[in-house]
Amino acid sequence: MFKKILIANRGEIALRIQRACRELGIKAVMVYSEADREAKYVKLADEAVCIGPAPSAQSYLNVPAIISAAEVTDAEAIHPGYGFLSENADFAERVEKSGFQFIGPSPDSIRIMGDKVSAKQAMIRAGVPCVPGSEGELPDDPALIRRIAKAIGYPVIIKAAGGGGGRGMRVVHTEAALINAVAMTKAEAGAAFGNPAVYMEKFLQNPRHIEIQIMADKHRNAVYLGERDCSMQRRHQKILEEAPAPGINRKLIERIGERCVAACKKIGYRGAGTFEFLYEDGEFYFIEMNTRVQVEHPVTEMVTGIDIVRTQIMVAAGEKLPFTQRQIEIRGHAIECRVNAEDPYKFTPSPGRITTWHAPGGPGVRVDTHIYTNYFVPPNYDSMIGKIIVHGDTREQAMARMRTALAETVVEGINTNIALHRELMVDASFMIGGTNIHYLEQWLDQRKR
Ligand code: ADP
Repeated sequence: MFKKILIANRGEIALRIQRACRELGIKAVMVYSEADREAKYVKLADEAVCIGPAPSAQSYLNVPAIISAAEVTDAEAIHPGYGFLSENADFAERVEKSGFQFIGPSPDSIRIMGDKVSAKQAMIRAGVPCVPGSEGELPDDPALIRRIAKAIGYPVIIKAAGGGGGRGMRVVHTEAALINAVAMTKAEAGAAFGNPAVYMEKFLQNPRHIEIQIMADKHRNAVYLGERDCSMQRRHQKILEEAPAPGINRKLIERIGERCVAACKKIGYRGAGTFEFLYEDGEFYFIEMNTRVQVEHPVTEMVTGIDIVRTQIMVAAGEKLPFTQRQIEIRGHAIECRVNAEDPYKFTPSPGRITTWHAPGGPGVRVDTHIYTNYFVPPNYDSMIGKIIVHGDTREQAMARMRTALAETVVEGINTNIALHRELMVDASFMIGGTNIHYLEQWLDQRKR
C-alpha cells in the first residue's frame, strides 16, 4: 500500500480523500492555492504545499507545480478528485512518466472516453446501447448530413465530440435549420474545445438521467455498484441525486450493469467510473462515461456500504477488488442534496464569509463538507460547498430524514440553495419519484409566474 498520497484538488472532495487516506494509514499531502491557505482541511493534512495564486489556471490546473509538489514531498501517488485535472489524459500521462501512480484509469482509457465519438464507438462494440445517431463524426457534405438526420428522425441534437459541462450542444427540429446548426456547433466546438468534430443523435424528449457506478481493478475484475438517478438538473448541472432510481425494474438495471462491466473488461478499464445513460420508455441509451469519482458517489456508498474512494486507492496500489458482484447488495434508499453558495432562485453566486454553520445529524445523516463557522468561501471556484446525504430503509424514510436534516441546517453570512431543497423535498412530483431531466427547469419557470 502507498505510504503517502498527494491530493490534487480542493474543498469537500479534498477532505473526503484525506479521510480515506487516514483510514488506510496513508499520509496525505494537500496542495492549495493562495485562496485556500487558511482552510482547515489544508491545516489538517500531514504536509501542505502552495501551488500558486487563486485562479485555477495558475494553481489547481498548474501541472508542473503539482508534479514538483509530489517530488518534494516524496508522495507515491496522486489523487485528482473530480473536475480540474481529473479527466485530463495528458496530466495522467505526465504523472506516470514522472514515476507516480495516477489514482484513476490509464491515460489511454481517459483519452478514448474523453472523446464522445470514440467513447460511443467503443460502447457500441462492447454491446452497450447508445442513443441512435451518426456512426461517428459528421461528414462535410450537406446532402449526406441531411440524409443522416432524416434516417434518425427529427428532432436531432448536434453535439461536440470534445464537449463537456453541458456545453457544445444544439437541438434541431427541422431540416431547414440543420446545416446552419451544424456549422455553428462546429465553429463553437473548435473555439471552446480545440476540436471542431461534431456528431448527431436523436433528441430524446422526456428522458431521465440514470447512471451506473462501476469499479475495476488491474486484474480484469470489474463490478457495478447499482445506479443513481440524477434527473434533477438545471442547465445540465445536477443538484440532487438518489439511489436506487425510483420505479425502474431491477432486471433492467442488472442487464445494463452487466453490459457496463463487460465494456470495462473489454477496454481494460481500472478504477472508479460512471456510465451515464438517458432512460426513456424502458430503454437505456449511453451518452458518456466519466473516468473519475463523482460528486454524487456518496449515495452509492450509503446503499452498498462500499467506500468508493478507499477502493480507488486500493486498486491503484494493485490490490484486487475486495468484493465480488454477488456480494454487492443494495440496501434501502439514499438521497444527496448539493449545497451551493448561491441565491436559491436566481442562482447568482454568493461567495463570502460564513458567520454561522450548524450541521444536521442523527441516524442515517452524512455531511460531506470542508466548511465551518468563519470559513471564507472564495469567489474563484465552483459554488458547491458541501453535500447533505441521508439514508433510510425506504425512499419515504430517506425523504423524511432529509426534510429534518434540511430544517436543522443553518448557514449564515452567505446565500445557499438550501431553501430550494426544502421546497423540492415536499414537491408532489418529486415525492412520487421518476421526474425527467426537464422537470426542475419547468418547476422553476412556473414558480416565477
Ligand atoms: P456533458 O458532457 O456536457 O455533460 P452529456 O452528453 O453528458 O454532455 O449530456 C448532458 C445533458 O444533455 C444530458 O444529461 C441531457 O440532459 C442532455 N442531452 C444530451 N444528449 C441528449 C439527447 N440525445 N437527447 C436529449 N437530451 C440530451
